[in-house]
Amino acid sequence: MKELLLIPGPTPVSDEVLYALSQKTMSHTDERFVKKFARALKEMKAFFGTAKGQTFIISGSGTLGMEMSLTNILNDGESLLVVSHGYFGDRFAEIGKTIGVNVDMLKSDAGKTISIDSLKDYLNKKKYTAITFTHVDTSTGVIADMRKFSEIVKTISPDTLIVLDGVCATGGIPEKMDEWGIDVIFTGSQKAIAVPPGLTMLAFSQRATKKRKEMKRVRTYYGDILRWTPVMNNPHKYFATPAVNMIFALEKSLSTITEKGLDNYYKKHINLARKVRTAMKTVGFENLPDEKDAAPTLSVFSYPKNVDDFKFRTALKKKGVTVAGALGELKGKYFRMGHMGTITGEDIDLALKRIKEALKELKNI
Ligand code: PMP
Repeated sequence: MKELLLIPGPTPVSDEVLYALSQKTMSHTDERFVKKFARALKEMKAFFGTAKGQTFIISGSGTLGMEMSLTNILNDGESLLVVSHGYFGDRFAEIGKTIGVNVDMLKSDAGKTISIDSLKDYLNKKKYTAITFTHVDTSTGVIADMRKFSEIVKTISPDTLIVLDGVCATGGIPEKMDEWGIDVIFTGSQKAIAVPPGLTMLAFSQRATKKRKEMKRVRTYYGDILRWTPVMNNPHKYFATPAVNMIFALEKSLSTITEKGLDNYYKKHINLARKVRTAMKTVGFENLPDEKDAAPTLSVFSYPKNVDDFKFRTALKKKGVTVAGALGELKGKYFRMGHMGTITGEDIDLALKRIKEALKELKNI
């Protein structure tokens, strides 16, 4: 039976990427590795939409990227505005509080986006050193319109540094760091880029790097971008041992996607999302956000009447299909389905067939 991993990360990894992962481990200063590391760093620029930004590839999950994006640009007591469309937006506030910055939160209702007026109000009332956005909040499936949001920040408060969490977006949705004026962007290896979990990739703008250089104290050692920058500019150098095999895998996936065309990869995600939601609607599952706010990378489905979350997901799991439960206040009422990375239309057809079977079985119990 073909197993289908349809959670919003980790996502299934192709055989060729697994093969790259299983290369003989070599020295992190070996020329063959150094070349691949440099290539992956260069390719990440296209994924983030930056020519000028400094890219980093660091061992650690997406949460390390979140933490580095704040520790490197915020001094104690500076102000941070967190725009939250769900659980992962909220995490920025927790990190901010942990590192001693003053956090204000602008939070949307579940499955909705914040209003433009509320964003304007916050920015007009107070001066923030930085503002965070989550491109796709994986708990609600809401996509943030970053072109619009960053334009508002630039207009009202041009000095505020803009941080963007691309963990559930990068590779699946276009990101334009330079064009939108994003200062820090980061992602994880295990979502649309379709590599096992374990790496975070980041880019810092020149403005964000300047801010880090002006900081007298930084609340991180491993996550300090100034310790990593020499390595990223010349991977022969050492600060801390890079995850050699993971970087082989990352380089393979990035170059495969690039060869096939990043734009085609984005289109594939849009088409797949449309296919999933149209099909699921026919059997009574509705995506939580309005279609205009819905991410191409995952859906957060409500249940048809009298279908129990736990029983449904257990029945589906027995059929080889793994989906994810919902988070926070949505737990038990919704489930999450990832459709990013290597997932194909055929996978979706097969999943739908099994979903229908599972529903039928539950009705007959
Ligand atoms: N941000 C978003 C939007 C995420 O979806 C996740 C993980 N699901 C994270 C941050 C945290 O990443 P990780 O679990 O890799 O630490």
